[in-house]
Amino acid sequence: MPLTNRTEHLKPEGAYQVLARANQLEAAGMDIIHFEIGQPDYPTFENISQAGVDAINSGKTRYTPPAGMPALREALAEDAGLRRGIEIAPGEVVVAPGGKPNLFFPTLALIEPGDEVIYPDPGFPTYEAMIRLAGGVPIQVPLLEENHFSFDLKAFDHLVNEKTKMIILNSPSNPTGGVIPSEDLKHIAEQAARYDSWVMSDEIYTRLVYDKLKAPSIASLPGMKNRTVIVDGFSKTYSMTGWRLGFGIMPVELAARVELLLTHAVGSTAHFTQFAGLEAITGPQEMVDDMVREYQRRRDLIVDGLNTVPGFSCQKPQGAFYVFPNITGTGLNSTELANLILEKAGVALLPGNAFGAFGEGYLRLSYATSMENIQKGLEKIRTAL
Ligand code: PMP
Repeated sequence: MPLTNRTEHLKPEGAYQVLARANQLEAAGMDIIHFEIGQPDYPTFENISQAGVDAINSGKTRYTPPAGMPALREALAEDAGLRRGIEIAPGEVVVAPGGKPNLFFPTLALIEPGDEVIYPDPGFPTYEAMIRLAGGVPIQVPLLEENHFSFDLKAFDHLVNEKTKMIILNSPSNPTGGVIPSEDLKHIAEQAARYDSWVMSDEIYTRLVYDKLKAPSIASLPGMKNRTVIVDGFSKTYSMTGWRLGFGIMPVELAARVELLLTHAVGSTAHFTQFAGLEAITGPQEMVDDMVREYQRRRDLIVDGLNTVPGFSCQKPQGAFYVFPNITGTGLNSTELANLILEKAGVALLPGNAFGAFGEGYLRLSYATSMENIQKGLEKIRTAL
């Protein structure tokens, strides 16, 4: 069938392929521990679900303005602004079905064919997909394990130039859990200003940070808000992956263009989902704090455990719910090791190279699962190796 060149480069996310194989093994009777999927194991918090159900029952089942209900845009402007120490106007907030549309549509609105876009490698696979779909040239910056998996700034300085139209950051990061230090953000901001580049700051994990840390936003640095698209959402913070609700923060002119893209691509985000989102940000936040404390305990358990596996060496990441152990000491490559651990130990996890070539030599494990599963998974890995 003649399909377009424009879509030829698209690939599934690695996590879904591993999940499919893990499900096959499970169906054949094998006991599998799942560390492959980046999805909170918590149910959506009760008050939020109830607000969604109440909204359905009271007829909140219509179209809304494409960029979201005014009440939600207002509440998000206030909440997101307070958390980052910046002024945000409701007109700068674009609500969408998940965080992903606010990665895709601003990219389509900003990138002309031939424009260079810098992004982290290893990084979230959607970045490369959207850059290429827009006709942009994907430019990977390797991450430095010894500096919180932040950009290798020497490599970055070498790659950034007047053709760099956008720089994508993701802090805390999928797949590494790394939080970019403030000094590095300052340096990246200076380069963005020097080359008049946009920054797309994917902050979807910004509330999942440990050791009492706050993940700084590049948009908070002087002069940066006007050249930054912040991408955030409800999936991770409020355990709402399936509700499909996210938002972007960007200059009004860009927001208006993205709203037009949403108008024609999705119409609007589900009406009742937006009511659930309004409850999420205006309601109690203690559940989020409890969840973060629990994730921190799980992180400590999995990092300590992985560091006892021969050939593994694992940094303690400060955010998200991923660890990214270096496995070069095992003598196997990422794919061989991930396959061996799945087939022999019954533990599903991802090879680091599912996130780009510089992810070779690492594995990604999601610890959004119980302490008991983490214990069991670690034991199985140790026994199999
Ligand atoms: N950015 C990153 C780095 C992610 O890991 C994810 C989810 N896996 C998203 C964006 C998109 O999240 P959603 O569309 O579910 O809000």
